[in-house]
Amino acid sequence: MNTKLTHDVAIIGGGAAGLAAAVTLARSLRSVVVLDAGDPRNAPAAGAHNVLGREGIAPLDLLAAGRREAQQYGAEIRNDPAAAVRRIDDGFVVELASGATVSARRLLLATGLADELPDVPGVREFWGRSVLHCPYCHGWEARGQRIGVLGTSPLSVHQTLLFRQLSDDVTLFLHEMPEPDSEAWEQLAALDVQMVDGRVERLHGEGDALQAVVLEDGTEFPVDAVTVAPRFMARAELYEQLGGTLSEHPLGQFIETGQMGRTDIAGVWAAGNVSDLGAMVSVATGAGTSAGAAINADLVTEDAQAAVLSRAGAL
Ligand SMILES: Cc1cc2nc3c(=O)[nH]c(=O)nc-3n(C[C@H](O)[C@H](O)[C@H](O)COP(=O)(O)OP(=O)(O)OC[C@H]3O[C@@H](n4cnc5c(N)ncnc54)[C@H](O)[C@@H]3O)c2cc1C
Repeated sequence: MNTKLTHDVAIIGGGAAGLAAAVTLARSLRSVVVLDAGDPRNAPAAGAHNVLGREGIAPLDLLAAGRREAQQYGAEIRNDPAAAVRRIDDGFVVELASGATVSARRLLLATGLADELPDVPGVREFWGRSVLHCPYCHGWEARGQRIGVLGTSPLSVHQTLLFRQLSDDVTLFLHEMPEPDSEAWEQLAALDVQMVDGRVERLHGEGDALQAVVLEDGTEFPVDAVTVAPRFMARAELYEQLGGTLSEHPLGQFIETGQMGRTDIAGVWAAGNVSDLGAMVSVATGAGTSAGAAINADLVTEDAQAAVLSRAGAL
C-alpha cells in the first residue's frame, strides 16, 4: 500500500456490483472504500427476482446484507457520493459531495445506469411496481394479467413477445413506434396480441394499481400492468472526467470494458449496469467479483515489481 494514498481501491457505487467487488478486495486484505449515493436502480421494486438463494428479497435488504458482508472483512462504506475525480501520479483523488476526499491506487466505477423513461404521465409514478420493463424481474408477478406494451421503437415488438409468453392478454399500443413490419405483424396477429393505433396520453390508476391506458382521443383500455422500454444511460460522468468516451448501444450508452471489467483508462475498472446495460442483479454481482479479482491481481503485480526494485536498491 502506498502510504501517501488513503486506500488501495476506491469503489464508486454501492449496489450489487460495487459491494461484490468490495467483498472480493477486502477478503484479499486490500484497503477498500465504497462511496455510495444510495440510489440503486431497482429500489422502486418490492422484490429482486432471479437472485439465486435470495429469491424475492427486497432490493434494499439485499444491499444492506452486502454492506454487512463487505464491512465484516474491513471494507469502509461511506454514504457520500463521489462528485469529481482526477488522476494523480500514483492513483486517483476522489472528491466527495461532503467536501472530503479519498485517494486510491485503483478505481472501480460501479455507478449503475439511469433509466430514461418515456415522457407519458403515469409512467414514472408506477415505475417498478406496475410499469415494468424486464420480464425476468417482474414478469412472473404479472403472469396472466392484462398487460399493455407502450410502443416506442421497433424493439417494442420483441418486448411484446416476451410478455406474451406470460399472459394471453397483451395489447401493443403503437404510440410512438413505427407500424410493425409484415413479419412482426404476422407474429403478433398469430399470437392474438391486440394492436392499438394512436398516441397514449397517460396511464391511470390508484395507489400501486394501474387501471387503464388512456389514449389522446379519450379511449380507455383497462390494464393491470404496462411495459415500457427505457433508454439505459450509464452513470458515467466520472469516467468522462477522466477522459473516457461512452459507447453507443441500441438501448442506450455504456462504458466499454475488456475482460473482467478493465476500461481503456489505466487503473480504472467498471462493473455492473454502468458497463453492461442488461446485467441483472446476479450478473452485476458476478461482474463486481470478477473486477475485484482483476484489480487485486493488478495490484499484486505492481507490488511484486516494487518489491524487486526495493530489494535491488537494498543490495
Ligand atoms: C424497476 C427495476 C426492477 C428490477 N428488478 C430486478 C429483479 O427483480 N432482478 C434482477 O436481477 N434485476 C432487477 N433489476 C435490475 C437491477 O436493478 C440491476 O441489475 C442492478 O441494480 C445492477 O447493479 P449495479 O450495482 O450495477 O447498479 P445499482 O444497483 O444501480 O447501484 C449503483 C449504485 O451506485 C450509486 N452511485 C451512482 N453514482 C454515484 C456516485 N457518483 N457516487 C457514489 N455512488 C453513486 C447509486 O446511488 C447506486 O447505489 C431491476 C431494475 C429495475 C429498474
